[in-house]
Amino acid sequence: MIEELLKNKNLKQTKQRIEILKIIEQLDLDASKKNIIENTSIDKSTVYRTLDTLLNYNIIETSINHKNELYYVIKQEHKHYIRCIKCHRKKEIDICPVNEIKDSDFKIITHKIEIDGICQSCEKDG
Ligand SMILES: [Zn+2]
Ligand SMILES: [Zn+2]
Repeated sequence: MIEELLKNKNLKQTKQRIEILKIIEQLDLDASKKNIIENTSIDKSTVYRTLDTLLNYNIIETSINHKNELYYVIKQEHKHYIRCIKCHRKKEIDICPVNEIKDSDFKIITHKIEIDGICQSCEKDG
């Protein structure tokens, strides 16, 4: 699946790219630059370069996690999630609120939406 992300963008499937994408996937919300470097034997400058390439090709994007850290995430097809601020469970929502925005001055090209909430089971636990 990770190999396909590279193939779809006509990017060479190098060992480093595949490894870094796997680490990003495993670390999930903790995939900060620092944690990625700590979890690989690939040297720092190659990690930086690889992250830049993956960002430029829109294979990954950055977001801010619950610890207020910048982290990397594999770009999903157009989907939005609501996230529990306590257990960090994510649930897909099936609409895109941005579709409702109709502005004559701007054509929307891209957007990021972060929706935080408290899931039912966490709310019960108080
Ligand atoms: Zn929860
Ligand atoms: Zn959307």
